[in-house]
Amino acid sequence: MKIMPSSRFLIFLLFFGFPQHLVAQKKAMASHPKVESWKKEVMKSLDERRKSAQEMVDMVFSFSELGFQETETSAYLTSILKKNGFAIETGIAGIPTAWMATWGSGKPVIALGSDIDCIPKASQKPGVAYKEAIVEDAPGHGEGHNSGLPLVILSAIEVKKIMEREKIAGTLIIWPGVAEELVGSKAWYIRDGYFKNVDACIFTHVGNNMNVSWGDAGNNGLVSVEFKFEGSSAHSAGAPWRGKSALDAVELMNVAWNFKREHLKPTQRSHYVITDGGDQPNVVPSKAAVWYYLRERTYEDIKSMYDDAIQYSKSVAAMTGTKVSYQLLGTAWPGHFNKSIAEAVYKNIKIVGLPIWDSSDQQLARAVQKLVNAPKKTQRGEPIDGLATQLDTLHGPVQFSWGAGSDDIADIAWNVPTVVFRYPSNIPGTPGHNWADAIAMATPIAHKGVVNGSKVVAATLLDMLTDATIISNAWDYHKNVQTKEVQYISFVEATTPPAIHLNNKIMDPFRPQLKKYYYDPSKYKTYLEQLGIQYPQLEKKGF
Ligand SMILES: [Zn+2]
Repeated sequence: MKIMPSSRFLIFLLFFGFPQHLVAQKKAMASHPKVESWKKEVMKSLDERRKSAQEMVDMVFSFSELGFQETETSAYLTSILKKNGFAIETGIAGIPTAWMATWGSGKPVIALGSDIDCIPKASQKPGVAYKEAIVEDAPGHGEGHNSGLPLVILSAIEVKKIMEREKIAGTLIIWPGVAEELVGSKAWYIRDGYFKNVDACIFTHVGNNMNVSWGDAGNNGLVSVEFKFEGSSAHSAGAPWRGKSALDAVELMNVAWNFKREHLKPTQRSHYVITDGGDQPNVVPSKAAVWYYLRERTYEDIKSMYDDAIQYSKSVAAMTGTKVSYQLLGTAWPGHFNKSIAEAVYKNIKIVGLPIWDSSDQQLARAVQKLVNAPKKTQRGEPIDGLATQLDTLHGPVQFSWGAGSDDIADIAWNVPTVVFRYPSNIPGTPGHNWADAIAMATPIAHKGVVNGSKVVAATLLDMLTDATIISNAWDYHKNVQTKEVQYISFVEATTPPAIHLNNKIMDPFRPQLKKYYYDPSKYKTYLEQLGIQYPQLEKKGF
């Protein structure tokens, strides 16, 4: 019998299986035919949830809680998730303010996260183009961490409705980056196994455009470590020769490290604060402590700085006759993010686009840029003038980096395919970690950025839930590119406790004062209204 070409092909398939490229093609078409209409539906619902976005963003802004002290923030956000059917596990990884909220069942398991802590001494009234604290010297959201979890919560709640109605399998997990400013939680979540069943993670962070990147992000990883010295006290004038000064050890340590800088790579960043410098001059300090952040571009270089710093601390202890102990307070790996997920997010960034800013938003942005003497151009050479009106591009791996800051989301990203999606809730050209960075964060700028950001996350969730190739390609990249030659080794050891004691002494005296300014949505439409601010308030009134 003559075998027809088509039947010959069938026999070929019988023996050799489906050619791989045809399988890939088939999978690429596997996305659900209704997904585009669901996206439209979810985006419309998110527009209608504008009020919820504003309320959540303003509420968390008003709590103004530092890392490890996010008690009101976590209670408030988990109560919303609980009301929406999520199961909450609190106190994860031994961190009282950390939690994981889970809804759904089966695969894929997608985690959505964002940071929640704020910045010391960044208390600032929103919507005004001048420096004025809500509570003088209190912490404030000078990094915009009040906006990211409201964003992912909105996305998850709306996507969940579609999943329930359409019986789409999958598990959604929402989680907070506790104490990100201390890089204090995410490596501990990894150590304690909280991400071991997660298939993919979309992390969100405030920015001033919509963007996402994949590959080497060009930033530094770090260890945050405190060295404590103990000597013995004596009368500083009566019998100084009987004292062994712990402060001497701290100062010698810093001198030694500052000499060392000459022999470090230009990519390193190291900085310190003296957390205990003794009590008063006439008592030789028996105790003193110094806290270092040691940053570099690779695990090996961070480790080498860490080992050297430990060695220096022992040497200066020997020189001063003191004893030294040290504790790892935080850590982050250098950032590397997933290609497949970044591409999926960017596709939806292009669909959603930037928010439509009105003249009040632009007026405030330009006035704040003038106030902080913002540079005229970004480091990439793009002009800084008001709020972004042109969408950013999808960024791939950096080719060169002088080093930069750190974020412990990298520890998640080295274990689970992850991206950081930035949404436009802040004003370009502000200094970062500063009171001026809080100005936009409870205004229509932040609210609009969050609504548009939530649409991108929701649309990407729908894509990932209905097209298995996004996650399978993500793992392919994770295994065969990202971790092919680099193995994740945590700086957190099995016995390293999370540094949950940090910030309580700073936070405690401010909490009762800040409480008077917590947002009350039952009385005021917005936090701006509660504070009596006419948006945008470009000049201080009453002067
Ligand atoms: Zn941040």
